[in-house]
Amino acid sequence: MTRELSAEDNALLRRHGLQVTAQRKAVLRAVAARPHGTTDEICQVVRGEMGAISRQAVYDALAAFTDRGLIRRIQPGGAPARYERRVGDNHHHVICRTCDRMMDVDCAVGYAPCLTAGDSSGYDIDEAEVIYWGRCPGCIEAAQRHEDQGSGHRTDPTKRGET
Ligand SMILES: [Zn+2]
Ligand SMILES: [Zn+2]
Repeated sequence: MTRELSAEDNALLRRHGLQVTAQRKAVLRAVAARPHGTTDEICQVVRGEMGAISRQAVYDALAAFTDRGLIRRIQPGGAPARYERRVGDNHHHVICRTCDRMMDVDCAVGYAPCLTAGDSSGYDIDEAEVIYWGRCPGCIEAAQRHEDQGSGHRTDPTKRGET
C-alpha cells in the first residue's frame, strides 16, 4: 500500500511539473499525515521521517505545492498558515480560540451555497474561504470544570459575567 501511495505521489508531482525528490515526497506525505499542520509541525513530521531538512526547504516545497493546487493553504487571521491535502471541495474550517485545534466543516455535497454572494460586484467567484472561530468541546469542558472548582483565576476573557 505504501508503494502504491508513493507511486501516486510521484505521478502527482510530475503531472504538476515538479521534479520528484525525496524531500518533496516527504513533505507531501507529512501534509497528508498532519492535516491542517503549520510549517513547524510539518517540519517535525518530515524530520522524524528523513532526518535533517531545513525549514526553508520545507517552506519552499509547501509554497510550490500550494501554487500548483496540490495542497491548500489556510491562513487564519493573526495565526500561522496551515496546510492540507484536501483540495478543491470548498470545505470550511472551525478553529478553537483556546487550543487552536482546527477541524473541517463540510459544505453541502455538489452544491456550495456559500459561493452565492449577496453582491459579487461583477466578480466571477470560484471559492469562498470561511473560518468559524469558537471553542472546541474539550476546551468548553475544561472551562466548565475550572468554573466548578470556583477558582478566582480568570484566563478566559470571554467568560460570561455573573447574573
Ligand atoms: Zn480547544
Ligand atoms: Zn480542511
